[in-house]
Amino acid sequence: MTGSVGTPALEIVDDDGERLVFDAEESEHLFALTEGLDAATVSACPRCRSRIVTVVALVDLLDASPPFSRAEELVELADVRDLATACGHRGWIDPGHDEWSDAFGTRLTQPR
Ligand SMILES: [Zn+2]
Repeated sequence: MTGSVGTPALEIVDDDGERLVFDAEESEHLFALTEGLDAATVSACPRCRSRIVTVVALVDLLDASPPFSRAEELVELADVRDLATACGHRGWIDPGHDEWSDAFGTRLTQPR
């Protein structure tokens, strides 16, 4: 499907560089349906909608929310970046992301 995507407003990425871009309408829709992704948010920029979410909690959240057209694509990804703002959230996301990757990376790479 092509065509209806407007100006990118929100980008969701994962550690492998997979990315998904939402336009303003889609991102409004998403945040409205999930109450701002609150329940799945691990760490969020105080000044925009950029945030790190856990995939497990996100799946639950989307499950409990009204149907969202791109939910299936979304649950593969974990890192939300607000493209509509030019805030300095690098200062937030770098340490936050490290901590997060560390915690999850260690757990994921260690054989059980
Ligand atoms: Zn920000």
